Amino acid sequence: LERTLSIIKPDATRRNLTGKINAKFEDAGLRIIAQKRIHLSPAQAGKFYEVHKDRPFYGELVEFMASEPVVVQVLEGENAIQKNRDVMGATNPANADAGTIRKDFALSVGENSVHGSDAPETAAEEIAFFFSGLELV
Ligand code: ATP
Ligand code: MG
Repeated sequence: LERTLSIIKPDATRRNLTGKINAKFEDAGLRIIAQKRIHLSPAQAGKFYEVHKDRPFYGELVEFMASEPVVVQVLEGENAIQKNRDVMGATNPANADAGTIRKDFALSVGENSVHGSDAPETAAEEIAFFFSGLELV
């Protein structure tokens, strides 16, 4: 089974949508094997999204991700990385398919409710960024 790192972003935690989003993961066959609520510092958010540091929206993205608590989680399942991205929907909710998390809940391309790892290497790095081995069973 594959694992991926998921983040329920501040726009969603603020609106108390964690349970509704988790139900979509579970309905898609993903198991939430680790989960915690944390408030990222701007430095931590900046490090997590360092890959985007030259993009024009980087400052706004880092400020948003550090604005309020997030829920970080590890999802496990067959093809968990792709399955999670399918259930998340397109980055911009205007382009997201019906029934996806971003179609149903995202506010904008920036405040788009969830993050999901995009490849096996980044999933491993992102899981290790937030969770120790002892927290993963
Ligand atoms: P994520 O990496 O969060 O799972 P993604 O892979 O769909 O999302 P990326 O291209 O990696 O999208 O962008 C990372 C995040 O940066 C997006 O989820 C969104 O919050 C923000 N973002 C992307 N494009 C824009 C934009 N044009 N304006 C503002 N914010 C943006
Ligand atoms: Mg991405």
